[in-house]
Amino acid sequence: MRLLSITESELNKLLTFELEDGHLIEAVHYRGDTLCVSTQVGCHVRCAFCASGKNGLFRNLSYEEIVSQYSIANGIFPVKRIAMAGIGEPLANWGEVKKSFEFFKSKGLKVSFYTTGFPLKKLSELLRLPHNGVSISLHSLNNDLRKELMPFCGNVGHLVDFLKSELPSLTRKKRRRISLAYLLLRGVNDSEEDLKKLGILALELGVGITLLYYNRVGNFEPVSPEAYERAFLFLRSMGVRVTLSTRFRRDRLGGCGTLTVGGSSDIYMEEVKV
Ligand code: SF4
Repeated sequence: MRLLSITESELNKLLTFELEDGHLIEAVHYRGDTLCVSTQVGCHVRCAFCASGKNGLFRNLSYEEIVSQYSIANGIFPVKRIAMAGIGEPLANWGEVKKSFEFFKSKGLKVSFYTTGFPLKKLSELLRLPHNGVSISLHSLNNDLRKELMPFCGNVGHLVDFLKSELPSLTRKKRRRISLAYLLLRGVNDSEEDLKKLGILALELGVGITLLYYNRVGNFEPVSPEAYERAFLFLRSMGVRVTLSTRFRRDRLGGCGTLTVGGSSDIYMEEVKV
């Protein structure tokens, strides 16, 4: 595996790596000390708002390929935090991701995750690790709509039931590190009724909400900055802990949903069962 290039915007540094078999993957260095790493080559979930899963999954990354993104980047930029939030669904490559997590912790790094939550058994393991944050991508509580947004993800009702039964067994401190990620898409999932249901669920679970701003990747429209702020204030007025997308996550280079895979053709898609 070798570093092919570093592309910079004002905020982010996009690192492109070439793997032994010729696949290209990306990682992002942002906020001065954080590296967002990829865990798979492509992604089977194929979210309609994300470039990473556009062509499905090619293969899992090995432990060596995951940690090498860090080892190489750390020789160039300071890295104190790892976000397992690049290309891929971390729980779908859990064995290698967990080993990588242990490696990162042994280096004293803080490690956070973004996941769709499936398979649920792996989510249960993840929630119990000494992580520094797990964001569970929800985007809609309506299963039909969620299927349109995240075609090869599991049933949202099963996910919600799982969280309701699982989270009470976690300490309050652990629950504070968990959030429901919600990407606001204009006219799709941004109604007051949608937000109210989301807020009620977050309060019931005792977790926060991360409101994501859409980087134009698919055919959706982002909400206006005013609507984004309104959604934030609405949820906060319900008493929910809300975090907004940082400017790094909204950057044209390396922002959420913009990482891509180069090099090969589509070979694998499958709906993940509970
Ligand atoms: S948002 Fe995450 S789960 Fe969805 S296609 Fe992109 S990498 Fe996969």
